[in-house]
Amino acid sequence: MTDTLDLAARLRFVLVRTSHPGNIGSAARAIRTMGFERLDLVLPARFPDPDATALAAGADAVLDAAGIHRTLVEGLAGSNLALGLSARRRGVNLPEISPREAAAQALAAAARGEQVAMVFGNERTGLENEELAHCHAMVRIPSVDDFSSLNLSQAVQVMAYELRIAMLQDTPAPPPPMHDEPPADATQMEQFYEHLAQTLDDIDFHKGRTPTTIMLRLRKLFQRAQMDERELRMLHGILADAQRMAGLAGVKKG
Ligand code: SAH
Repeated sequence: MTDTLDLAARLRFVLVRTSHPGNIGSAARAIRTMGFERLDLVLPARFPDPDATALAAGADAVLDAAGIHRTLVEGLAGSNLALGLSARRRGVNLPEISPREAAAQALAAAARGEQVAMVFGNERTGLENEELAHCHAMVRIPSVDDFSSLNLSQAVQVMAYELRIAMLQDTPAPPPPMHDEPPADATQMEQFYEHLAQTLDDIDFHKGRTPTTIMLRLRKLFQRAQMDERELRMLHGILADAQRMAGLAGVKKG
């Protein structure tokens, strides 16, 4: 049986572009009370900051150990499953799940030895579509429609609470692995998307159109597949061959 501490260590809370350092402190306290320690900050507006320390109310170790990153991809490095918390239903068309379902999925993944990230957006703008594109599902706390947005650290608290409740229930025997190979992590997926974008360019797939929308759609497609490393190697191989053939055919972009 997997120890709860091991499971908790595989879960991280990633706060993206947080404006108010007080919210970072409150989030640290929220996760610490529920047995979690791992906080990752992507482009925080102000950190470290006395307001963060004050609101952490003693959860200083979480703040001290917090990772600070310049990009979400960096904040997600090593993670295999990313769940994005969002108050708004966005145009990204990700599967939408409840915090309870998210907790179940997160713990099942952690029990398989995977690393899981719970991702939270900026206080005013939330998670952008481009940020949600790095996630495998969108988690919505079922607040009322006409006032749906929780304070950031309170959303963190709700999610951490659900994870805690799920962990307190008998830890299930780890489910069989989904793959016989290690699942791809966020960094490997990002390398794949770069290779894919470059290849589409090389084969002149876009024909002058801007690649942004198609790349977001392709990300969604491949995120849904939750590929393992062997599958990723195979796709890299296909892309490399397509690039080689495009080179031989002398495809030139107009
Ligand atoms: N106007 C923003 C609100 C941001 S609140 C929006 O619509 O997304 C800051 C963060 O707290 C959000 O990015 C999200 O991660 C989390 N959050 C707040 N309310 C939430 C809810 N009802 N469900 C899920 N996450 C929520």
